[in-house]
Amino acid sequence: MAKIAVIGGGLAGLSIAFWRARVGDEVTLVEAKPELGGQLCTLRDAGFVVEQGAEGFVAGSEAVAGLAEELGIATSVVGQLTQKSYAFDGQGLHELARGEAAQFLGFQVPRRELGHGIRTFRGGMGEMVSALARVLGPTVDLRVRSPAKGLTLRGERLELTAGAGTHEFERVFVATGAHAAARLLAPVFGDVAAALERSATLSSVTVSLAYRRAAIAHPLDATGFVVAEDAQLDGFRACTFTSSKLAPRAPEGHALLRAFFRPSAEDLALDDAAWTARAVRALDRVLAPTDGPERAWIARWPAALPVFDDEHRARVAALEATLRGTGIVLAGAAFHGSGIDAALKSARRAVEEHSV
Ligand SMILES: Cc1cc2nc3c(=O)[nH]c(=O)nc-3n(C[C@H](O)[C@H](O)[C@H](O)COP(=O)(O)OP(=O)(O)OC[C@H]3O[C@@H](n4cnc5c(N)ncnc54)[C@H](O)[C@@H]3O)c2cc1C
Repeated sequence: MAKIAVIGGGLAGLSIAFWRARVGDEVTLVEAKPELGGQLCTLRDAGFVVEQGAEGFVAGSEAVAGLAEELGIATSVVGQLTQKSYAFDGQGLHELARGEAAQFLGFQVPRRELGHGIRTFRGGMGEMVSALARVLGPTVDLRVRSPAKGLTLRGERLELTAGAGTHEFERVFVATGAHAAARLLAPVFGDVAAALERSATLSSVTVSLAYRRAAIAHPLDATGFVVAEDAQLDGFRACTFTSSKLAPRAPEGHALLRAFFRPSAEDLALDDAAWTARAVRALDRVLAPTDGPERAWIARWPAALPVFDDEHRARVAALEATLRGTGIVLAGAAFHGSGIDAALKSARRAVEEHSV
């Protein structure tokens, strides 16, 4: 039985904790935020199921299907209700060919996945987080509000300072974002770790709006629409017709739409009212609802999405070469490919290649 720490309670960290605890390791997981899940976060509010982070995984993902099976939630997996998508060119909506919307938005998914859409869980991606938290509860020392602040090498052991305490471990899995990993590891490993803080990331803000269905004349017969680059205002790039794409997401007689923005650094500081106003203005231009929304939910994701350019890949490879043999292992979407499927594959590989 090995003493293991996992830093980061997103999908990658939770899965590593699950797989290691199952083979009998003594696992402590520390998460900086008050809740687990990282970029998976589903709200349930007034009958709406609102994704604040990821809404689904590439439909062909064997990694997610496998974990869902292991967690006993495979029967909750659901597909899209439609595959049709539109583009908005500043004048009107035009139907796109299959796979074009994802390509248009620059999704970093393998070409073979384009055009097959996504799958998710009936109750949202949060179902996976809840299931993991449920199985981990009795076996793993789960600590939220416990940011990892320092990691030092003590001979064969690793000393982790997180929250209020410092403890020794044989292996530490770092499943945070790249910038957080850089800050944590730079004091020990110097520039090879600090360099990760210079890796490019993208920010995202999403605004989910609940309308009375009767207020929108459009049939909403698609997954949503993407916005042509020269027609984008305020960073508005796409809209998901959530209640048409996935079921069940809105109570009878309502439509749930989700607007995606790529914010500037200054935009990230805008308050909820300003973001709601932006989203309403954006949707008025395309769908012209006769009434305003009844509710709005805003999610801000500063510097959350890694950009897998050559520089970032080289920095990860250099840091991993330096970490070899130390017992510190990088895992998750920040290091090995963006998205849920990549995060899980990275976590699985980390566990298989780095058993103590
Ligand atoms: C708006 C949005 C929509 C998305 N949509 C999709 C989608 O539809 N499909 C898809 O496949 N992917 C999507 N993604 C990406 C996907 O959600 C992520 O790639 C994946 O969830 C990342 O999981 P992870 O565990 O690697 O990292 P994260 O979920 O980022 O988890 C890292 C965790 O580490 C914690 N942490 C950071 N620093 C510390 C520290 N010092 N100490 C302790 N904990 C720390 C963080 O709080 C966080 O909980 C989306 C992302 C966003 C933001």
